[in-house]
Amino acid sequence: MTLVFATNNAHKLEEVRQILPSAYVVLSLKDIGFLSEIEETGDTLQANSLLKAQTVWDWISTHPSDKQIDGVFADDTGLEIPVLNNEPGVRTARWAGDEHNDAANRQKALTLLKDKNDRKAHFRTIITLISRFDLNKDIMIEQMEGRVDGCIADKEYGNKGFGYDSVFIPDGYQYTFAQLPAEVKNSISHRARAVEKLKKRLL
Ligand code: IMP
Repeated sequence: MTLVFATNNAHKLEEVRQILPSAYVVLSLKDIGFLSEIEETGDTLQANSLLKAQTVWDWISTHPSDKQIDGVFADDTGLEIPVLNNEPGVRTARWAGDEHNDAANRQKALTLLKDKNDRKAHFRTIITLISRFDLNKDIMIEQMEGRVDGCIADKEYGNKGFGYDSVFIPDGYQYTFAQLPAEVKNSISHRARAVEKLKKRLL
């Protein structure tokens, strides 16, 4: 089965390719020749996830190729910190400014939580799958959510991963996602849990 992952994020692509069994061929946007950035204008993770999947599905429908594509999926992820009213949420990528700047975003989390005892946080990923496995049927649009609970560390630790990984410690561990081996992150993360649901849907 061949699926397009509607992302330009090489880290997300690598993670999803590691999580899904090799029977699933996961193409990137570059692989299909889609070279634009999709602006995330939605007010929720669900809306932005749908926007990305729908934009790429529509593009594929108007750009015939020799590749047999069975579906398109997109991931939108947010970090939510209860003591900060679940900020940054849908603004996770641009929390520290208009440009997506992961280092500045991590610093903002550490600064706002300085001296706070309650450092609980969680990631949520919403995956949208658009597929038409049966040509005689309408397209199907489905969303699935994955969540991991944890807390924000007192400073950055580790150099694996991306985004907020070096400041996020998942529950049950004493290390950040950026310190843990990729296999551990990819077995417990928000994305891994959403992809597990995606996998069940694809069976
Ligand atoms: P988006 O889902 O691509 O819009 O990402 C939103 C923000 O969350 C960006 O700043 C990403 O770097 C960050 N992010 C997404 N997934 C992860 C993850 O698995 N770990 C840490 N940060 C992430």
